[in-house]
Amino acid sequence: MNPFDQHLQAVLDERRLQHRYRQRREIGSAQGPVLNVDGRKVIGFCSNDYLGLAAHPELIDAMSQAARELGVGSGASHLVCGHSREHHELEREIAEYTGRERALLFSTGYMANLGAITALVGKGDAIWQDRLNHASMLDAGALSGARFGRFLHNSPASLKAKLAGFSGARQLVAVDGVFSMDGDLAPLPELASTVREHSGWLMVDDAHGFGCLGKTGAGICEHFGLSQLDVPVLMGTLGKAMGSFGAFIAGSERLIEALIQLSRSYIYTTAMPPAVAAATRVSLRLAQAESWRRTHLEELIVRFRQGASELGYQLMDSPTAIQPIMIGADADAMALSEALYQRGYWVSAIRPPTVPAGSARLRVTLTAAHSHAQLDGLLAALKDVRQ
Ligand SMILES: *Cc1c(COP(=O)(O)O)cnc(C)c1O
Repeated sequence: MNPFDQHLQAVLDERRLQHRYRQRREIGSAQGPVLNVDGRKVIGFCSNDYLGLAAHPELIDAMSQAARELGVGSGASHLVCGHSREHHELEREIAEYTGRERALLFSTGYMANLGAITALVGKGDAIWQDRLNHASMLDAGALSGARFGRFLHNSPASLKAKLAGFSGARQLVAVDGVFSMDGDLAPLPELASTVREHSGWLMVDDAHGFGCLGKTGAGICEHFGLSQLDVPVLMGTLGKAMGSFGAFIAGSERLIEALIQLSRSYIYTTAMPPAVAAATRVSLRLAQAESWRRTHLEELIVRFRQGASELGYQLMDSPTAIQPIMIGADADAMALSEALYQRGYWVSAIRPPTVPAGSARLRVTLTAAHSHAQLDGLLAALKDVRQ
């Protein structure tokens, strides 16, 4: 065998032995609570379509109509000739929604984090991150060339020690707003004041908060009442609660202009299809106008937490749509996920390296499109597999 084949086979074999082998299931229906998988109907509790907008008829109409008018491909990067009116209007509307001076669209959240962090810090600077941050921020920190350290999860004291011990040029602190595998919130008010005391900048990845948190769904900053001064760099994604695709960085005029000049994952990539931006504009409108989606989601969260803890499951400290059930061993999490699937419920098992070793979990996510009956069905299945 070629050394590459040998190496790859060894990696694959080891993954299997560790119960960490990842596989994809093929879906033959639109995203929503009822999915068609391999010709079979299952109830899904693992999407990030928190507001249930991914297959909304108004989004579909907007996308189809824009595709007829503007075509499919954007044709080029934003800086060459791919920046359409739909992109521009969407950026304006995101800035307004989030209460920031401006916003800049990226094709994905991964690229937004990579592009923003590597543009803002480099050699001679520091980037401090919560140790449970999303992989895209951790990767960006490593790539940036800045001094990169992680502080204890949700610990302003641990962060303070990092900030105080650094004497270089600039310090950027980056955290998830809602932690994607735990569902808990970052203590942003405390973090913001700690960062300001040390003349740093705070960046928040609000992938799971945007659309869900705050009175109008503007996200974690609205939830805590934090302005652009508190959180100068706000990142959000459009593929989760917005049910569409893409991401943004929002902040000051100066920040956005600098990212346009410096951000490599913004500059060297094709702009998203304008029809996607057109559909996302409808998402923003629905997310703001239809607050019942957030209200219903909150009811489901309360109902799930009550039901699952009555069954004796160990929940995490999460007030959000992300409701992990702590299991521990990888093989146990896999077996439970499989048993639920056999009963018609799709809940993914999250294993290392996505979460720390020994903390494999079932990650239940709830959406505004789920009914009480569907949730009760999941709870009954959870009861069943526990026995
Ligand atoms: C999903 C996610 C991302 C990546 O966003 P994509 O648009 O899917 O690339 C970044 N950060 C967090 C916290 C996420 O959950």
